[in-house]
Order: sequence, then C-alpha cells, then structure tokens
Amino acid sequence: MPLYNDTAIMIRGHDFGEADKIVSFFCKNHGKIRVVAKGARKLKSQFAGRLEPFHRLDITYFGRENVGLYKLSAVDLGSARSAIADDLERFHRACYVTEFIELATRDGDPNPRAFMAADATLELLCAETKPRDMDWITRFFDVKLLNHLGYGPTLDRCIDCGGALHEQGSLAFDVSRGGVLCATCRRKSGRTTPLSQGAAKFLSRIVSTEFSKASRLKPSPALMNEITGVVSAFRDSRIQSKMKSERFFAGASNL
Ligand SMILES: [Zn+2]
Repeated sequence: MPLYNDTAIMIRGHDFGEADKIVSFFCKNHGKIRVVAKGARKLKSQFAGRLEPFHRLDITYFGRENVGLYKLSAVDLGSARSAIADDLERFHRACYVTEFIELATRDGDPNPRAFMAADATLELLCAETKPRDMDWITRFFDVKLLNHLGYGPTLDRCIDCGGALHEQGSLAFDVSRGGVLCATCRRKSGRTTPLSQGAAKFLSRIVSTEFSKASRLKPSPALMNEITGVVSAFRDSRIQSKMKSERFFAGASNL
C-alpha cells in the first residue's frame, strides 16, 4: 500500500470509535485529505497533543486513493499554534482561513501556493494581538488565496474596454466578471460596485506583496472598509457560498 509524506495544516478533527480520531488536513502536495488516527485519544499515543486544529505538521499516512479515508502512521510537529485556540479573536479568523480552504478547494487537489498562503496567515495570526490587524491579515489572505485559486481579478486595466486606469474619476468593480471598470465603462454598466482609484491600486499591491511584508502595507480604516466590501462580494460570487465564520469578527458590522 502506498505511503505518503507531506506537510499539512490540520483543519478539524472529531472522535471516532473507542479511542480513534478522524482528522482533516490540508496538505501542501496532496490537497485536502481525511485520515483515521488510530488510538489518538489514548494518553500514550504518539499522536497525543499533536493533533490540534491550525497546527502545521509533517505527516506520514497510507491507504488507497479511491477509498477516501487514509490511515495516519506518524506525525511531527512543524509549528504549534495553540495560541490561536486561547484567544477568541484569533480563533475566529483562523476558523475563517480553514473554512475558506474547505469551501474553495477539492479533496486530493494539490495547490501548494494556497497551502503557503494559509500557513503564512495562521503564523501571522498567532503573533498578532490587535483585532483590526487580524482583519487586515485576513483580507490580505483573501486576495492572495483568490489569486492562487485562479480567480485573480483584473486590476491593471479596464475589464471592458481594455483601457488604462490612470484617468481621473471613480472606477467600479464588476463582481460577476472579476475586474475593474474604467470611469467611462462604469457609466455604461449597471450592476457594479464603486471602487476608488486608491483601492484599485491597493488591491494590485496586495497581489504583488509577500506575506512577510503584509504589515508594511496596512491600509487606512476607510480603505480597509472599501476593500473588505469588494473582496467579500467577489469571494462570495466565486465560491458561491457565505462564510459562516466571518460573522464572528469584531468588525462584522462593517461587512
Ligand atoms: Zn473601460
């Protein structure tokens, strides 16, 4: 039976049978998988204390791909993120990250860049203490993940006429088509979301900025509100679902 090694983020786990656990992982090279961890609830289990949501783990598992449930054989702790479960603000945003991954990726469909985005976001959330900055980290993750899923919006030119965006006047964001409309095309179009020149440029900068530099790019509260509205609407239209965890954010009244 094939044996697999991968780096994984634990998404969730639940008790199974007398002493086992069923665990969902998002793996860097194998995408989402489910495993049974035999005896994981026994005190002397090699898995004890390691199978916690949001942890990054190096896992070894085996089984046949068509069965859908693998068996976990070994776990090494890569990054322990217990700090997330100790703080409700962090916890809600970390749940958002794993919910987004669950909704937007398919079982067994690898996306290493999406994995890196989720991993970097959980690492930043672990270290952050201010809810407003946690909101920013989460929005940064949204834009990065949408991009890695192949939903990157067109931001450098008008999605309608193909023209440059450096003219004056308000732009708009076309949620259903995933791109910016210039001021001229905006007037001709009906169902669009207003977008300032500053927000359009800022969204472009997020796409080209690394996670390690996210804190240097922090937007003003007004810009953050604007970006949140546009990105949330675009995300919902792409995953065709509402994110349950988002309503628990402290600033949820702005959404
Ligand atoms: Zn145009």
